[in-house]
Amino acid sequence: MGSKERIARALAVSTDTKVFEMGQGTAAMAPEVFRQCFPGRKAVVVADTNTWAVLGEKVAELFAKAGIPTDTYVIQKQEFHADWKYVEMVDMVVKGDYAAAKAIENDADHQESDASKAFYEPSDSYNVLVSVGSGVINDLCKLSSHHHGQSYLTLPTAASVDGYSSFGASISYRNAKQTFTCPAPVAIIADIDVIAAAPKHMTAAGYADLAAKVPAGAEWIIADFVDSEPIQPEAWHILQDYLDDFLADPAAVAAGDPQAVADLFEGLTLSGFAMQAARSSRPASCCDHLFSHLWDMNGHRYQGRLQSHGYQVAIGTLTMCAVFDELFKLDLTQIDVEACVEAWPSLEQEQSRAREVFADSPTPELGFEMISQKYGDKEQVRKEMTRLKAEWPALKEKLQGQVYTFAKMQELFRMAGAPYEPEHIGVTYAQIKQMFPMVQLMRARYNVLDLAKRGGFYDALVEPLFA
Ligand SMILES: [Zn+2]
Repeated sequence: MGSKERIARALAVSTDTKVFEMGQGTAAMAPEVFRQCFPGRKAVVVADTNTWAVLGEKVAELFAKAGIPTDTYVIQKQEFHADWKYVEMVDMVVKGDYAAAKAIENDADHQESDASKAFYEPSDSYNVLVSVGSGVINDLCKLSSHHHGQSYLTLPTAASVDGYSSFGASISYRNAKQTFTCPAPVAIIADIDVIAAAPKHMTAAGYADLAAKVPAGAEWIIADFVDSEPIQPEAWHILQDYLDDFLADPAAVAAGDPQAVADLFEGLTLSGFAMQAARSSRPASCCDHLFSHLWDMNGHRYQGRLQSHGYQVAIGTLTMCAVFDELFKLDLTQIDVEACVEAWPSLEQEQSRAREVFADSPTPELGFEMISQKYGDKEQVRKEMTRLKAEWPALKEKLQGQVYTFAKMQELFRMAGAPYEPEHIGVTYAQIKQMFPMVQLMRARYNVLDLAKRGGFYDALVEPLFA
């Protein structure tokens, strides 16, 4: 199946995005697409100083030439993450109050507003956002548009994340990285001339974000196996049927070859469409991403710089591939089901363990809240382990068909120019080991570590990685 067919099939099931144009020079189509999607509306091009130079200014000129009333808002701050403060800033941009937006941008001691009160009555007098930039700008525009009951147009400048087309925005709010529910953009215009010329570290980051769907898919298979989150075929097939192909040529991606970068971007976009179809990030992330979220929450820096989403996800992905290597060494047909049930802690015990694990974190109650949602009782453990014992050979084969070995994934990352050792993002093996209990407990989503806890083989998965 060719790219056009794959995209057409994905668009048919994606609930929010109606237009996806990808190719060399497609930025020229932006004004016409805007007119079709937002007739009679005023545009505001949102960019940072880098993306303004590579594409934003050109887009603003194209809009002006096409006779579309257009303002611009260029974020001057040199380093910014997707923090709630900047959502408030873009909320002001939608309203056309650029002075208020600048005041928020420049306010170092800004007090976060209440996220639940950030919704406004839709109005044709609002600006429609035209996001020109990478993942952060897109996520800010996605959530702010939702706050005002409208959609937006996005022009990605790098194949750095899968968030351009995803349902939801990943924003840091009250010290925690959270996924806010909001629709994907109605239109995505991916100009491969721009995207292939992006800094190489951004493309490498996108490669790693796509590769994360390999272990994430395996964890979805596990959640499906225990009846926690059934695989939704529509969402699964959009990306997983082609994932191996999209990841097959990391050297060409690293070289900035336009076709290879277009393939990578398509893979990332299909991942977002899969999330739209599922109305959840389950198709795109599991423990591989949680390491990254923890580093974000702790403001992790290396050589003075925040590390990109994809760079952090690279190390999370490799870690999970190593976990699966260990899982496949176990013979789970030998599990003593009644011993697992006997040893299984009560909800209260698990809640107090979660409080201890998160005691020194910026979100001390997070683990408590999540384990309260996903805790299963002894009967549940008996059911899951009975099934695991009986069906392990078939499940193992299925998982092995999905996940890559650590050695294979590490070689792919090395060729793609992505991080392939913890030290490449300034973390140590000891730090990663310490993060495991938080990773297990920080989402209500069932993961491979939950399975291991219930089956009494958690230490057998984790300890060998650091021996
Ligand atoms: Zn991601």
